[in-house]
Amino acid sequence: DALNQSLSELRDIDVSFEFFPPNSEKMEQTLWKSVERLAPLKPSYMSVTYGANSGERDRTHDVVKRINQQTGIAAAPHLTCVDASKAELQQIAEDYWNSGIRRIVALRGDLPAGVDKTDMYASDLVALLKDVADFDISVAAYPEKHPEAANAQSDLLNLKRKAEAGASEAISQFFFDTSTFLRFRDRTAAAGIDIDLVPGILPVTNYQTLLKFAGFTNVHVPGWMHKMFDGLDKDDQTTRNLLGASIAMEQVKVLAKEGVKHFHFYTLNRSELSYAICHMLGVRGNG
Ligand code: FAD
Repeated sequence: DALNQSLSELRDIDVSFEFFPPNSEKMEQTLWKSVERLAPLKPSYMSVTYGANSGERDRTHDVVKRINQQTGIAAAPHLTCVDASKAELQQIAEDYWNSGIRRIVALRGDLPAGVDKTDMYASDLVALLKDVADFDISVAAYPEKHPEAANAQSDLLNLKRKAEAGASEAISQFFFDTSTFLRFRDRTAAAGIDIDLVPGILPVTNYQTLLKFAGFTNVHVPGWMHKMFDGLDKDDQTTRNLLGASIAMEQVKVLAKEGVKHFHFYTLNRSELSYAICHMLGVRGNG
């Protein structure tokens, strides 16, 4: 029947979770509580961001190491190339490989203010990493186009270069128009990009922060979301969480029906919404 069919469609779902290095005692506690809560779901990996130009790569590496030691789950550092020389990147990659890291999320990183050119793009970083060792490499993809890209087609060709350089999957920027992601997936297939395209799911808990973020990442926030969150800025956090979860659940349901098998969650170091969404998807960590 229909219920059994939809449950069987939901089998074999793979998830991954993204965290950022905490910068206070309190955030440190939140992070580790979330890691512990999400680990039993057996994600294929947990990734840890590194803020380009922050010079705090060690903090990313520390969190990666501890996730792996504490949970046994593969952990992947994000690595940017905009703020390091080739020799430095080679050294970092060797160190990562020697410490047992097998997956890297390879990014260019945002250009520092006032800079509008770079001699290294993410595709060059992917090639450099593959020269060092046989890493599994995830790269970024932009269903609504990267803000700097001249046009959608040139951005798509950039993704193709990253795939051809050796990336095995592309994680998408977050999005709210699910059809935009699906159209983008069609365009990547038509362009012969045959790596896994993983939707990046952002469960929204703070609408005002989201608006700022969406502004500089070129992500469209649909009018219906404005209406949904309107008047709730000072309301109980639970109300916003429920709405954020319902939006993300609707998204993943549609995407799972469309054959998506792997979801990446931008957890913002929180576990509640991602956990509930995974549960709805049938992810239990025991299969
Ligand atoms: P690229 O793929 O190199 O593309 C950058 C831009 O250059 C695009 O507009 C592309 O079309 C264009 N381009 C590429 N090649 C050429 C060329 N040869 N000539 C002209 N134009 C070209 N940032 C962080 O600082 N830390 C993180 O941990 C982090 N994690 C992220 C995770 C995900 C899943 C995503 C989607 C983004 C993340 N970012 C992170 C943000 C990312 O660093 C920025 O979006 C950055 O501006 C672009 O990085 P990229 O790897 O997509 O770059």
